[in-house]
Amino acid sequence: MPQSHSPTKSLFAESGSETPLSLLKRVYGYASFRGRQEEVVDHVMAGGDAVVLFPTGAGKSLCFQVPALCRNGLGIVVSPLIALMRDQVEALKQLGVRAAALNSSLSREEFMDVRSAVHSGELDLLYVTPERIVTPGFKDLVGRTKIALFAIDEAHCVSQWGHDFRPEYRELGRLAEEYPGVPRMALTATADPHTRDDIIERLQLQSAGVFTTSFDRPNIGYEIVERDQPKQQLLRFLSHHKGSSGIVYCLSRAKVDETAEWLNTQGIRALGYHAGMEREMRDRHQDAFLKEEELCLVATVAFGMGIDKPNVRYVAHLDLPGSVEAYYQETGRAGRDGLPSDVWMAYGMADVIQRGRMIDEGNSSPEIKRVERAKLNALLGICETAGCRRQAILKHFGEAHGGNCGNCDTCLKPVETWDGTDAAIKAMAAIYRTGERFGTGHLVDVLLGNETDKTTRFGHVDMPVFGAGKDLPAKTWQSVYRQLLAAGLISVDHGAYGALKLEPESRAVFKKEREVRFRKDRPTTGKASRSSSASSANAKSGLEGADLELFQALRAVRMDISKDLGVPPYVVFPDTTLVALATERPSDEDEMLDISGVGPSKLERFGDAFLEVINAHSR
Ligand code: ADP
Ligand code: ZN
Repeated sequence: MPQSHSPTKSLFAESGSETPLSLLKRVYGYASFRGRQEEVVDHVMAGGDAVVLFPTGAGKSLCFQVPALCRNGLGIVVSPLIALMRDQVEALKQLGVRAAALNSSLSREEFMDVRSAVHSGELDLLYVTPERIVTPGFKDLVGRTKIALFAIDEAHCVSQWGHDFRPEYRELGRLAEEYPGVPRMALTATADPHTRDDIIERLQLQSAGVFTTSFDRPNIGYEIVERDQPKQQLLRFLSHHKGSSGIVYCLSRAKVDETAEWLNTQGIRALGYHAGMEREMRDRHQDAFLKEEELCLVATVAFGMGIDKPNVRYVAHLDLPGSVEAYYQETGRAGRDGLPSDVWMAYGMADVIQRGRMIDEGNSSPEIKRVERAKLNALLGICETAGCRRQAILKHFGEAHGGNCGNCDTCLKPVETWDGTDAAIKAMAAIYRTGERFGTGHLVDVLLGNETDKTTRFGHVDMPVFGAGKDLPAKTWQSVYRQLLAAGLISVDHGAYGALKLEPESRAVFKKEREVRFRKDRPTTGKASRSSSASSANAKSGLEGADLELFQALRAVRMDISKDLGVPPYVVFPDTTLVALATERPSDEDEMLDISGVGPSKLERFGDAFLEVINAHSR
């Protein structure tokens, strides 16, 4: 990999003398702080500790990078993944910041280089793994070097409630005693209160300022469909995203392999990623995903943490995740750059049963299992809602949203509802009469009066409920059972192979004291779906005609530069900057500096190459 230019002369000669805002402009090329960034920065500049809970894409990195660069001394960033560190360090170097990473992948020689840079004060930011920072060796290394701040990134790793628990994170509380007086920051995109409390307690941040913002991701469009012909459905979704990269999540490794292979036969470049693959291949696929512009990565949840690629334009789920939290985290990997992105999921009753069984067979305590079941059911509720998906999701995180977001499938094409009280009674009677021992498939056969082996063998053909549901098609009955489940009127008995059982709440429905309304499922083919609507994110963030052509030409230049440097394209410039270049068309260096994301360092490195293309297109 060609070494990128690594400055040894400080950009921050008079450290401590520049305001955060002027540094933001000078180094990053951004005109202003966003959201609550400035509050966090001011708080830390004044020496305070901070807990920063912002959603993905909100700009957490600047919250610690800017004060680290403005304050005297070395900024130390704890990061859980080597790949993540490498990218951040590369991106900082392109900005002219002197950054380095300290992790197990360094050779002895590289380590010595970092060490001497620390000792001679020739480093602005140092990224370290959590296991490294608590060793005596690290304390020796930093020795008497002045430390500007500690930033603990992906701080939710400290909590067992999250999905990414890392025991080493628990040790980081010691930084409070070992480096008294140095501001400490913890940052994460995980919002739930359990995790937040764990972070504060474990990392000894009781007196820190806590900064949160809305967890809404307005640039992400949500769509959830009933699974029918999943491959065709997926293909239709992907057809709206030609020319961009995204992730397709599957539950099993086998399905990852099979789906990736199949997509390639359909002319979509796809690579797989799961923990069962050889490490070398997995790394190669991850690297391809970071560096290529048009690649579909098919993966299990093993893929994702620390993937900082800002222009992931879509995330598709072929299987239901286990909780709203997991769904939000996985879909949240789309659109980190703030440009329109789509997320899509196909699911069915089989998922609910499979997920439930995974919980039952897992080795969590009964208490945790109860929580897991409730979380799964909450996700089912979001899948089955007739209202705005965004509103339902945010409500789950305790945040109020007015609904009608205009960027989810139910808002774009409102679903009709119907009075399903009679249907609910029939569906639940079928469960009750057959002894609460059967799954959806058989129950639907009973309702439709289908004479199968099973209905005959168990004598169900002679029951009054047999054929009582002939007025509705099988698909509707399946949907009725899913919605009864989501409403908590019935439950799945995972000990009995997914048999459905009645819940006490069902009594009120039987007695007609409670009305039940169901959403009318849409046809799974045809124009109703969100991804086939005009607002699909594919339209390259609104670019058209000559601007779109220029954008594509700029993308090609960016790809050439990124290949030369051996870095991902977004390290050169993010898509947002290319969009601004394509529409504003700066004609010289001065005008180019006005573009968001262009600072002097990048202007010097890349300015000519981009200006040449812009001028050629503007003649
Ligand atoms: P997070 O870590 O919160 O997911 P990042 O720090 O990766 O988010 O930032 C997301 C994107 O937004 C990056 O491309 C970043 O450069 C950009 N960004 C952050 N803050 C600003 C700002 N004040 N102005 C313009 N762009 C910003
Ligand atoms: Zn909505």
